[in-house]
Amino acid sequence: MNAPNAAGWRPSMGEAGEMKNQTSSGDYGLMLEEALSFELGAADKCGVDLDPADRAPSEALGRFLRQSAPGLPGLTEPETVRHYTRLSRQNYAIDLGPFPLGSCTMKHNPRLNEKMARLPGFADVHPLQPQATVQGALEVIEQLADWLITLTGMASVAMSPKAGAHGELCGLLCIRAALDARGEARDVVLVPESAHGTNPATAAFAGFKVESIPATAAGRVDLEALKAKLGPKVAGVMITNPNTCGLFEPDMRAIADAVHAAGGYVYCDGANFNAIVGKVRPGDLGVDAMHINLHKTFSTPHGGGGPGAGPVVLSEALAPFAPLPFVTRGADGSIHLVEEENAGEGHDQAFGRMVAFHGQMGMFTRALTYILSHGADGLRQVAEDAVLNANYVLRACEDLLPAPFAASGPCMHEALFSDAGLAEGFSTLDIAKGLIDEGFHPMTVYFPLVVKGAMLVEPTETESKAGLDRFIASLRSLAERAKAGDESLHSAPHFAPRRRLDETLAARKPVLVWQGEPGVAGTPSLSEIGGS
Ligand SMILES: *Cc1c(COP(=O)(O)O)cnc(C)c1O
Repeated sequence: MNAPNAAGWRPSMGEAGEMKNQTSSGDYGLMLEEALSFELGAADKCGVDLDPADRAPSEALGRFLRQSAPGLPGLTEPETVRHYTRLSRQNYAIDLGPFPLGSCTMKHNPRLNEKMARLPGFADVHPLQPQATVQGALEVIEQLADWLITLTGMASVAMSPKAGAHGELCGLLCIRAALDARGEARDVVLVPESAHGTNPATAAFAGFKVESIPATAAGRVDLEALKAKLGPKVAGVMITNPNTCGLFEPDMRAIADAVHAAGGYVYCDGANFNAIVGKVRPGDLGVDAMHINLHKTFSTPHGGGGPGAGPVVLSEALAPFAPLPFVTRGADGSIHLVEEENAGEGHDQAFGRMVAFHGQMGMFTRALTYILSHGADGLRQVAEDAVLNANYVLRACEDLLPAPFAASGPCMHEALFSDAGLAEGFSTLDIAKGLIDEGFHPMTVYFPLVVKGAMLVEPTETESKAGLDRFIASLRSLAERAKAGDESLHSAPHFAPRRRLDETLAARKPVLVWQGEPGVAGTPSLSEIGGS
């Protein structure tokens, strides 16, 4: 909590106007300021009454016997509930308003998903339970796998990876295993300049050298530059389609043919599958491995909200190397898990495992619920509406914010703008922070790196036209203010609980350990990371 100023007032959360500095509490209306639990708590407070211990701590603890108080904040139950509820009100969520973050597909999560995931037969099963007692849960995995194979036109799917990046690692380990089986030591992975940061990171993590492929002026992979890099050292490429400029890669088939002819494999980053689900089957484009972010394309919560799931679909060439376990159906109709490479069940070349058990059961249930409630036609409409919404935003704002690739035709599921043309000294950050004041979560900023001052807006199909119009009106008004040089934008957000933080310092030197006195405000203070 901020210290009282000379007049006894606490500098308030925002600078919304005169009134704001006149509250003695630091709260503003029903927007409540909140101190750290350590500042609120006191060591001698406790949420429950405990009887004094009737004997000395056990000698058996030896040197592990605690020598001092644990340094936890002592809070009563109502203080604890209020603390976390107050903090939760300062958070922004997809259930409050749109989350236009490009490359994230932050769509509404239907409540039906939650209802299904909470059925005790799914929520309360244990991964080590006898398989005969979890046939329904295994059937969910099998049915979802079947849908993913059908929607992508691929040969097989590894269900266990737990996020997009984890799926990338799984796909590259399949490629490595396939190369080992061929006895070839290829160690270069080609990644386009516009790729998501996880692509080069994953390739490096999997032990490959990363070489970058330039983009054309139209924001696509430069096919000739890519061909020039192919050779006996190249293990494969990692291509995102639609790419992170929100554009379809029309040369995908030619890219795949060239890579295959040179002995490499095609990894496709499928995080943007939302734009093409039901319209294009990546298997038809020559893809060998692609992760699907269940937590993007098929709803399920994500973004600080829940775990992800990144199943990887695989071509005939890579399928034999997929990690265990696998769900299969026996001749008697019962389902079981293949857990061993040498079980003689067709997975003898599996490269190992990605996780201890079977993957994210809760995400599987939510994703299958979403798929079944949409049906094949509904899923196709997801892609069509997502693309329509993004083009609506693109065309509604391109007169004020330059859209670098808009001249080459419609975009896919996300609209990309740049900050060229704003008044001297104004940039993407000012627009993003201004959006917070307008009640919107900012769009993705400064990504993809191929566009200077990029603003990537992904509305998704779940925003209505009325909702998009409100967002567009705010974005346009901010662009106009930034073009006119409205200085007040430089200090936005004015109405949020905090002003601008030094995000680099916060990321590089996070203050993770409380070092002050319980019940005393102020150390370490937010001002250390530039907050007010
Ligand atoms: C989200 C995303 C990823 C990473 O997915 P995670 O589930 O966050 O690991 C990779 N590539 C692209 C293009 C993405 O949008």
